[in-house]
Amino acid sequence: MAVLNNITPQEAINLEDKYGAHNYHPLPVVLSKGEGVFVWDVDGNRYYDFLSAYSSVNQGHCHPSIVNAMIQQAQTLTLTSRAFHNDQLGPYEEFVTRYFGFDKVLPMNTGAEAVETALKISRKWAYEVKGIPENEAQIVVCENNFHGRTTTIISFSNDPVARDNFGPFTEGFIKIPYDNADALEATLKNNPNIAGFLVEPIQGEAGVYVPSEGYLAKAKALCEAHNVLFIADEVQTGIARTGRLLATCGNCSCENKDCSGTPEVKPDILILGKALSGGVYPVSAVLANDAIMKVITPGSHGSTFGGNPIGAAVAMAALKVINNEELTENAYQLGNLFRTRLNAYIETSTIVISVRGKGLLNAIIINDHEESDTAWNICLKLRDNGLLAKPTHGNIIRFAPPLVMTETQLLECVDIITKTLKAFEKS
Ligand SMILES: *Cc1c(COP(=O)(O)O)cnc(C)c1O
Repeated sequence: MAVLNNITPQEAINLEDKYGAHNYHPLPVVLSKGEGVFVWDVDGNRYYDFLSAYSSVNQGHCHPSIVNAMIQQAQTLTLTSRAFHNDQLGPYEEFVTRYFGFDKVLPMNTGAEAVETALKISRKWAYEVKGIPENEAQIVVCENNFHGRTTTIISFSNDPVARDNFGPFTEGFIKIPYDNADALEATLKNNPNIAGFLVEPIQGEAGVYVPSEGYLAKAKALCEAHNVLFIADEVQTGIARTGRLLATCGNCSCENKDCSGTPEVKPDILILGKALSGGVYPVSAVLANDAIMKVITPGSHGSTFGGNPIGAAVAMAALKVINNEELTENAYQLGNLFRTRLNAYIETSTIVISVRGKGLLNAIIINDHEESDTAWNICLKLRDNGLLAKPTHGNIIRFAPPLVMTETQLLECVDIITKTLKAFEKS
């Protein structure tokens, strides 16, 4: 029976089924409240959130300082469009560029829009700075990538479900294997018309594929050698998720003391979204230095809501939470603990093959074929035991809780997860 709301779970699900397009396949649970690492369903049952809206809610659900920033700004000024200036955008742009160590930012709303923006900047840079002949620019992408859902972005996806019957597709992309610097080198050597290399530092949607040590640095060096822009899509991996401020973090000149982990590379173009707002509002951003961002001129690109005062105020508050609560360090420590504990369990497990990830972006691989529904059934059981997670691809389950988790909570979650998995062990 509904106690927190006047709708039953089945009624809510039926309404979505009848009136909403069926573009998702949600786990059957109807949520009505969130706080920190927890969400509650309409019956008042509490769950640990181990998806965090695909790593958007890094700062925890309904973080008071982010929500307050939104309320205050919503009561003051919500939208001006970029036809006029607003008093939040400039301070936010100064803050976010210093935070990540870039000259300039181009503010957008969703992750896919930010990826589109980065692609457009790269092409324009290729023609106006690098000198590639008109309409010849190519962008190198990786197999099994996920960069969003627009027509251009799905043009270089190799997920049949994301592509089927959405053609004709946008040209100008070359797909190479992920985590393969030799393939990148061969492609860059053989083609003078490459504008950029678009890459996820860890492939999240594909199933939390962590590339081998040194891959990103090698790829960046190859890009530099061939005058090709290294474009990092950190929409999912960014903002402390992987135990570093950015998964590519390293030699950047950012003023972020909270930045921990092994230095790797500084991208030429950095794409952020999701946790940039702590999950309270769609805010995305593309960061680059002047030599690249200068190709953007009035009228050449934009968005009515991009850079709006609420988004600016919310993003600033969300980034401050990352530092104030040392969430990068927490993600690093808890991530190590999580994988250590799961690995100890996996040693004797017949149902889990392995755990992989960085910081608090992890996944377990279920010992069953890709089309089996075992991972889905495990997620249903996890739900019954008070923890929400979702399979990514077939037999892979992603675990990405909010980064505000405590060690005690994490250990309780490890207990829930291992107890649930044990019920699926093959005898
Ligand atoms: C989620 C995601 C996107 C798309 O973001 P939307 O806000 O859903 O458009 C792009 N790139 C990566 C790596 C993502 O995880």
